[in-house]
Amino acid sequence: MTVARTPAVLETLLAALRARVSGPVLTATDDLQPYRRDRAADPGAGTPLAVVRAQSVTDVQAVIELAAAHGVAVIPRGAGSGLSGGASAVDGAVVLSVEDMREIAVDPVTMTATAGPGVLNAELKAAAAQHGLWYPPDPASFEFCSIGGNVATNAGGLCCVKYGVTRDYVLGMTVVLADGSVVELGGRLIKDVAGLPLMQLFIGSEGTLGVIVSVTVRLRAAPPPSSTLLVTFDDIDAAGEVVVALARTGRLSMLELMDRTTVECVEHEHRGGLDTGACATLIVQSDEPGEAGAATIAESAAICTRGGAITVSQARTAAEGQHWAQLRRGAIPSVEAAAGSLLLGDVGVPLPSLGRLMVGIEEIAREAGVPIALIAHAGDGNTHPLVMRDTSSAESIARADAAYGRVMDLAIALDGTITGEHGVGRLKRPWLAANVGSDVVRLNQVVKTALDPQGILNPGAGF
Ligand SMILES: Cc1cc2nc3c(=O)[nH]c(=O)nc-3n(C[C@H](O)[C@H](O)[C@H](O)COP(=O)(O)OP(=O)(O)OC[C@H]3O[C@@H](n4cnc5c(N)ncnc54)[C@H](O)[C@@H]3O)c2cc1C
Repeated sequence: MTVARTPAVLETLLAALRARVSGPVLTATDDLQPYRRDRAADPGAGTPLAVVRAQSVTDVQAVIELAAAHGVAVIPRGAGSGLSGGASAVDGAVVLSVEDMREIAVDPVTMTATAGPGVLNAELKAAAAQHGLWYPPDPASFEFCSIGGNVATNAGGLCCVKYGVTRDYVLGMTVVLADGSVVELGGRLIKDVAGLPLMQLFIGSEGTLGVIVSVTVRLRAAPPPSSTLLVTFDDIDAAGEVVVALARTGRLSMLELMDRTTVECVEHEHRGGLDTGACATLIVQSDEPGEAGAATIAESAAICTRGGAITVSQARTAAEGQHWAQLRRGAIPSVEAAAGSLLLGDVGVPLPSLGRLMVGIEEIAREAGVPIALIAHAGDGNTHPLVMRDTSSAESIARADAAYGRVMDLAIALDGTITGEHGVGRLKRPWLAANVGSDVVRLNQVVKTALDPQGILNPGAGF
């Protein structure tokens, strides 16, 4: 859709928004600036007409109805921590922020929680913990990303290897559709097969099909404290082989990898005691209780040693293990701080191809002369190649862009995906058809047209 409208039409829209919406309608340049981009820092981000901070479902409905009536696009936005440009603003659009919609209710009997879309993942975890319960999905950004954004991207994280991704916990949601109507999907039921599984369409839909205004998730009993190994390798291929063997045990609750460049950046920022000389570092965790956990950790240590690890250290306390995991969580900001500007990859492959992907990424970095730091939710076969670039040099940008494209092509060639958990957003669209096939892209568009015939929701994102 075209979002350029005459000044008179835009003024009418702003006046109508101010009249109907209870939350702030921001239009000053300084106020708009923080809402132009997400953490991917999309260079193509536009300048919105306005940012509306919705306070209620009625506010969300009003924004969508008025924007649709004026032919203006709406960019749904949570906490803006996305890494694919999914929440990048479009020139002349209305950014619809749900960051203020933060009510939470925990039902310990059904072991569910219902949260407003702006509730941070960490706030949901904390509310569940007050009842001895746990919300597992744990993106490394859990302290500053929203549950609405998590559902809209089907966020993963560090414990997916055992506990799955956001989709595995969503039981119900309320969505405002592109015509402003409100639909309830699912609920608090563990089992429910009435009608087509339409709720699943909205999970991972990146704000293109509707605005999620409430989410009901399943909770679990809190797990016991974890036991953790820190393992180093002088060869990333060997680390990849060991990951495959460790994952086959089927018992680990965390299996994360950082390469040397990443560890150097993390150590520079945090001085956390990691070995900057190792080619690859694994963090291996079990949250099984008592003897079962001890047996899993002993077996994992033996697998690492047999697989050529240079060091295998067991955390003396659960707190030490959490410290290592916390260093991993801080890896992307640490690399960001060192590089200044990053192209963030999120490519994944079937687990047996993990070593080939990681070795291939190293080769691409070498051949292109571009530093690429590598982080992986290794147990899921999901890697984050962080392509570093010097934005003061057009030549460096071009080399980094080319290297990023080669990483995408490599993942596709290995039967993988261009995005395991961050979403296509705006930055990965050029590779989508090669990844899923043009017939599947067409099918995406059929669904989009059925739900948003005017194309007002997040145009340019996803597909
Ligand atoms: C340091 C760091 C570490 C990270 N680690 C992980 C990780 O381990 N795993 C992982 O999966 N991600 C990770 N991320 C990425 C990011 O945090 C997730 O994608 C998160 O789910 C985005 O949530 P958000 O609230 O910030 O959404 P936003 O960035 O605001 O939006 C993301 C997308 O969702 C849409 N959207 C947001 N809210 C709604 C809504 N209510 N209704 C409809 N659409 C909506 C937006 O339009 C956009 O397309 C990380 C990011 C950073 C900066």
